[in-house]
Order: sequence, then structure tokens, then C-alpha cells
Amino acid sequence: MIRSLIHSAGQHGLGLLTLLYPRCCATCGCLLMQHEKVLCLSCLATLPRTAFHHISDNEVARIFWGRIPLANATSFIYFSKNSEYKNLLHAIKYKGQYHAAIEMGRLFGLELRDTPFATADLIHPVPLHKRKLKQRGYNQSEYFAQGLSAALNIPVHSSLVKRIAETPTQTRKARYERWENVKNAFTITNAEPLANKHVLLVDDVITTGATIEACAEALLSVSGLTLSVASLAYAKLQ
Ligand SMILES: [Zn+2]
Repeated sequence: MIRSLIHSAGQHGLGLLTLLYPRCCATCGCLLMQHEKVLCLSCLATLPRTAFHHISDNEVARIFWGRIPLANATSFIYFSKNSEYKNLLHAIKYKGQYHAAIEMGRLFGLELRDTPFATADLIHPVPLHKRKLKQRGYNQSEYFAQGLSAALNIPVHSSLVKRIAETPTQTRKARYERWENVKNAFTITNAEPLANKHVLLVDDVITTGATIEACAEALLSVSGLTLSVASLAYAKLQ
């Protein structure tokens, strides 16, 4: 019985481990083949990539025009309320699927090679407030940063900037309210490794850019720092 199960699993490209511990696509939920990671081939092929890293005046870069001086800005994928990829982002943010965040970072990092983003000296995720970190157990942006780091061979630092103010959820807030909510929420804990460096600040989702802007203001207070920004997803404010 077991032998025939293993044989049939093998025929369908499923390993024994997959049989015992089924892995599902984080987007469509289908069973993953042995060689597939996080997303099935179909969801991987149809990822709504922005390709913004090939265009300097892209939609994400424009969000920050006149607000903060950025060297480069990009997001990996488009995201909307009705997007099939909602499950992926939800899994990364709330369901503890940190391996999905790492894999998405790695995939994005491969695409950022040979672009100005690859010239960063260090990657820093937008930090969570310590209470939120304790509650959630992990910072999804830090795992995304680790994936980018592995593909780009750029180190991650995650505690040179600290979130000192807790901010209520931003989801239902308009642009100005979001900024009021988050300004002065970040502080630099150690400026020395940041001075005169090109820093790639990363977050999971960019919507109005308020969180990135607040974190960037803290970073840009460091002498000689150049700042670029990358996020996993870009969600247009509806
Ligand atoms: Zn899928």
C-alpha cells in the first residue's frame, strides 16, 4: 500500500516528504510539486510584476517626489483588493509563512541584479514596534530582506533603525491621516554603520508611502546616507 502510494507520488512529481507533509501554493492553494517553492509554476508565471526597477520615474518613485530624496524606488508586484495574490501577502503577514517572504525576496533579488539596487551597501527592513513584533512573532519585511540579501549578496541589518511609536492600523486611513499617524515613529539606534552608505530600505507593501517616508526621514538624518526603497507589493490607494 505504502509502496504503491510512493510510486504514484513519484509519477506525479511529488516526493515522499510532499506526500507526508503536503505543501500548497500560497496563492491558488494547489498541491506543490517537489521542485516548486511557495508558488506553483502557473502562479509564478503570472505574478503581476511591475518591472519598475527598469524605469527610474515609475509610479512608486513618484509617490515620494517632493517628499523624500530617493536614489531608486521599486516594488516587485502590483497588489489590489481583488488580486489572487492576496492569499500570498496574507500568508506572509499573518500566517507565519516566513519562508514565503524569503522566497519572494530571493526571486525579486535575482531580478534586481545588474540594476542600481544591487549597488546598496546594506539592506534594512522597516522595523516593527517591539510590542507588535512580540504579538506577531516575526517581522515579515525582515524575511523578505533576507531573501533579497541572499540573491544580491548584500548584508541585512535589522536594528539600526527602531520603531519607537506604536501606530494603529493604517488600512482604512486616507493619505494625510496615515502620515499624521506615523511621523516621528522611527529613530536611529546606531548611525555609525549607516554613515556614507547606500541603504536599501524594504517593506512588504507600499500604499501611500507614509511608513516608508517616516522611516526614511530618520535614515536621511544620517550623514552622507543614500537611500533606495523596495517593497514586495505596491497597492494603489483606492
Ligand atoms: Zn498557484
